[in-house]
Amino acid sequence: MQVNAGFERRQTRQIMVGNVAVGGGAPITIQSMTTTKTADVDGTLQQIYALAAAGADIVRCTCNEIEAAEGLAKIVPRSPVPIVADIHHQYKMALAALEAGVHCLRLNPGNIKRPEHIRAVASAARERSVPIRIGVNGGSLHPDLYAKYGGRVTAEAMVESAMDELRYFDDVGFDQVKISVKASSVPLMIEAYRQLSEATDHPLHLGVTEAGPPPAGLIKSTAGIATLLAEGIGDTIRYSLTADPVQEARAGRTLLEAMGLRERKNVDLIACPSCGRAEIDVYAVAEAAQAALADKQLPLQVAVMGCVVNGPGEARDADIGIAAGNKRGHLFVKGQNVAVVPEDEMVDALVEWAEYIHAHGTEAALARVDLEKAAREADKDRDRLLADQGADANDDGTRVDLIRRWR
Ligand code: SF4
Repeated sequence: MQVNAGFERRQTRQIMVGNVAVGGGAPITIQSMTTTKTADVDGTLQQIYALAAAGADIVRCTCNEIEAAEGLAKIVPRSPVPIVADIHHQYKMALAALEAGVHCLRLNPGNIKRPEHIRAVASAARERSVPIRIGVNGGSLHPDLYAKYGGRVTAEAMVESAMDELRYFDDVGFDQVKISVKASSVPLMIEAYRQLSEATDHPLHLGVTEAGPPPAGLIKSTAGIATLLAEGIGDTIRYSLTADPVQEARAGRTLLEAMGLRERKNVDLIACPSCGRAEIDVYAVAEAAQAALADKQLPLQVAVMGCVVNGPGEARDADIGIAAGNKRGHLFVKGQNVAVVPEDEMVDALVEWAEYIHAHGTEAALARVDLEKAAREADKDRDRLLADQGADANDDGTRVDLIRRWR
């Protein structure tokens, strides 16, 4: 067992996917998959770069035809991250992908069924020191296992499928393997991974398959992946969303950062939920700030708050924030007001300040402005808001008084 950010991780053996370590205490990695035709080399590379910028450490591309394998031969040397070839049904595509120089294969045991084909792929992978993911999928279980478990997909059946495949690999002395047992049912995949982690020390690739479009897909994936990570299970993760795969990579990164399992490289955006006192459309401004900061490598906490009455105080720990007041945007750094800008320039100013703080530090940022003047401006707008709205803009004090009559 290894301690990582408060969660004890189960010890697994380590494999290398290109230059990225998976398992054996290595940082948990994020994967995603391209949606382009792999034969479209430029289009696929463009997506791979976008995925890498969004946080993906490893990217998978389908290798479903010979043109795809030829595309991989051109993609692999130009890719910023290791490439996994996704193989279904045709074992010859696995051999072709190895010729293309891919860093890992993904095989679905339910699709490549003949033992001699499985062994041929494992032998070729062993000769090139290329690892394989055994990717069991609840929806495409081997028919024999399906029948054996009463025509149902069970955690036991999925684990057995993975262990059967491992035995074929053992036959040819191949052990550079990671495993996934994905299902679209969250309780089923959680149970399958729990059982699998007891049965083997190979690194595990976590995911909820066919999770669907956001937000349900995000919630299902997070429920399954986060539950297992909190139990110390899992070495690499993938969100399978019916959406632009960049969202998958971002979701993976956000989850790992939120759980303290990955060093924060990007902005942690916090925002108030808005209320009767809000002076702006908090949802729209938060979304605009999120979009403007999404792929910037700024490991800062940034706050978007609906009003200057409570915003700077409630978000006083944020490195930089904005709060609205009297049609103006108030910028604050660590709770101290630093500048006032027109409302429609709030987000641009927020980005500029975030970049300045990242480059020069908080002290330098505070030193570049007249703090007293900024505080006076904020007080002016705060006082005006309080005068307009009163101290109880949400009417909660009045409501509490009414409720207390029923004591
Ligand atoms: S009081 Fe201000 S900061 Fe707090 S939720 Fe309402 S608008 Fe947002």
